[in-house]
Amino acid sequence: MTRAFNFNAGPAAIPLEVLKQAQEQFVDYKGAGMSIMEMSHRSNLYEDVNNETQALLRELFGVPENYEVLLLQGGASTQFAMLPLNFLTAGKQGAYVMTGAWAEKALKEAKLVGDAVVAASTEADKFMRMPTLSEIVVPDNAAYLHLTSNETIGGTQFKEFPETGDVPLIADMSSDILSRPIDVSKFGVIYAGAQKNLGPSGVTVVIIRKDLAENSPKTIPAMFRYATHAKSKSLYNTPPSFSVYMMKLVLEWIKEKGGVAQLDQFNHDKTKLIYDAIDQSGGFYSGCAQPQNRSLMNITFRIQTEELEKQFVKESEKEGFVGLKGHRDVGGLRASTYNAVPLESCQALSQFMLDFQKRNG
Ligand SMILES: *Cc1c(COP(=O)(O)O)cnc(C)c1O
Repeated sequence: MTRAFNFNAGPAAIPLEVLKQAQEQFVDYKGAGMSIMEMSHRSNLYEDVNNETQALLRELFGVPENYEVLLLQGGASTQFAMLPLNFLTAGKQGAYVMTGAWAEKALKEAKLVGDAVVAASTEADKFMRMPTLSEIVVPDNAAYLHLTSNETIGGTQFKEFPETGDVPLIADMSSDILSRPIDVSKFGVIYAGAQKNLGPSGVTVVIIRKDLAENSPKTIPAMFRYATHAKSKSLYNTPPSFSVYMMKLVLEWIKEKGGVAQLDQFNHDKTKLIYDAIDQSGGFYSGCAQPQNRSLMNITFRIQTEELEKQFVKESEKEGFVGLKGHRDVGGLRASTYNAVPLESCQALSQFMLDFQKRNG
């Protein structure tokens, strides 16, 4: 078997050890005579999976006691709507930090629900950097401040987060959750679809301060109220049981690797190989994001001509690389280097970049 050098942006690489373990347990989960997908979500075996997944998230991410860990469906895109539905009450404004395509989608959904404004924007710089903390202006009547910790398409990442006092800080961490240590207590809500750093698609993690979860308005449908899911420990309706189970295996893998701080170190080592190949190319390759906001999850770069970029993608595919074409909205090239992407893939890519330059530079 040859595994691809998988640089997909999402769904993305899952650790081989995890896939193998799931394969072993696929037909008969813990002697039940059936797979995890075939059993009741009210069974003891599944309840253990549900509880252990939440406990592992708490442990690995350092989630304080006064927060709920929810496992929901609908992806981060559903959170774009749920957040304003739950928090954007009359007379208040949702404040959004505009840093690219995902932030824009979040703002657009909020505007359907209530009053939402831009608290800072880097559009003038083509979203190739994150705003500095002093550029972010939170209105007096803000219901919350929303930001995207890592912009998956542009390849930019916040390296520090604003202090927002009594205004809850909400972060879309879909593309960098559990890739580095975070002080969760600075945030009101953190949310992320699983399919980049946590496992397969189908489950969305929402970490929410208890007082915020309890305050969902009673006028919105049950499925869209955080309170509903908090009260039922994320078992209000049938959960995406297989995705949750897979996420549990990924979390156990992270723990075995030494936890989030260790992964952060790995991610630095991995991305350095590729950023160095860009920076030491004498201009053959150029990084898209401004250096102070370079993402450790999505490395965006260009070659002098689009012709060469096309050739780069084509030749890389022949060599076993997958997912290096940039997002269709921005073009160029992108290597997504999430937690599960091994060092060997990054070494292979950096070598390929050197060879490609030698042939074409
Ligand atoms: C992928 C991504 C999303 C979209 O997630 P879905 O689970 O597909 O809804 C939202 N925000 C960010 C930052 C992403 O990377």
